[in-house]
Amino acid sequence: PAKIGILGGGQLGRMMALSAREMGYRIAVMEPAADSPCGMIADDEIVSGYDDQQGAAELAKVCDVLTYEFENITAETAAYLEEHMYLPQGSELLKISQDRLKEKEAVQSFGIPAAPWEAVYTYAGLKDAVASIGLPAVFKTTRGGYDGKGQAVIQSESDLHTAWEELKEAAPLVLEKKIAFDLELSVIMTRSTSGEMAIFPIAENEHRNGILHRTIVPARISDNLAEKADMLARRLAESLELTGTLAVEMFAEGEQLYVNEIAPRPHNSGHFSINACETSQFEQHIRAVCGLPLGSTDLLKPAVMVNLLGQHLQPCLDELDQLPAGHLHVYGKKEAKHNRKMGHITFLTDDPEALLHELDESPVWKEAATGGTKR
Ligand code: ATP
Ligand code: MG
Ligand code: MG
Repeated sequence: PAKIGILGGGQLGRMMALSAREMGYRIAVMEPAADSPCGMIADDEIVSGYDDQQGAAELAKVCDVLTYEFENITAETAAYLEEHMYLPQGSELLKISQDRLKEKEAVQSFGIPAAPWEAVYTYAGLKDAVASIGLPAVFKTTRGGYDGKGQAVIQSESDLHTAWEELKEAAPLVLEKKIAFDLELSVIMTRSTSGEMAIFPIAENEHRNGILHRTIVPARISDNLAEKADMLARRLAESLELTGTLAVEMFAEGEQLYVNEIAPRPHNSGHFSINACETSQFEQHIRAVCGLPLGSTDLLKPAVMVNLLGQHLQPCLDELDQLPAGHLHVYGKKEAKHNRKMGHITFLTDDPEALLHELDESPVWKEAATGGTKR
């Protein structure tokens, strides 16, 4: 294909587009806002909502293959796209991953371990769910949530009413047991249109207030657990008949793993691969949807990727000479809003512990824990 169409103009689309350009492809993007991180570097920028079939048809006219950086494309648009143009990833995985209930049901039907959960439709239903799951628990919307938005942690019975009042408009909801995990992991893998599969090194993720703060690779886990995570992810990919990229978020408690959620696209926790792997998750994704052989996912050096949220960007730029040498990525978003993902830095190191210690001392990421969901 000569021109790749990307649904969604955020940083994931931008980094896909940057990889695709290096590989000689042209890029068209469809996104509701003009001058998006991807739109500003694309050949064609179609400003249109994700539920607008006219926009989708316009995109189809100018490109040869279609992919997405965003799973919340409406089912109608996704079905239209699949029917009228070449969307090698299909639309089925979109439907599952954009709806937490469908996602939970799918994971359960594959026999893959997840935190105990219940669907909640009413306040009485919430009480019943708490009685069967126990506390603490996490109460989540089924659609549209990201970075911990649309979630409430229920610590005790006295939080029930507030949590219900906060989220009831978004019913149906999901209540999950709060897992006392030792650490969080993610596994990113890619399957090409020819069925070839490749998996990235397992990543360890630290969240702050429900938002990814940093990713450490390789994850500091036993070989046994790494093997388990790898196998779980592969089983999921097979069960879902994956084409393209899939990120699987997991909780590790002792040697037990629970799948938290999936995303059918390159993922924030895979950004380390741009600088630390033979092939980045973005190049790999483009290879997969364009039918090229996949690249090696070998880790060239241990890495720590740290997100730059709105409140971190300027302090980081000001302190750059005080920080260890790293690879700086800035997405070109106009407004550096609090908690908005503005960029990231990837540090390559032979001594991750020393580097983590140094970063812990840095004033850049020392801001008070505000915003997002308190945990
Ligand atoms: P994303 O931006 O990754 O899509 P999201 O808004 O969909 O985030 P989750 O991944 O469900 O949210 O939750 C965000 C974070 O909150 C998790 O990474 C984890 O740190 C914590 N969390 C969520 N659910 C649970 C749980 N059941 N037990 C313990 N911690 C949880
Ligand atoms: Mg999510
Ligand atoms: Mg998540």
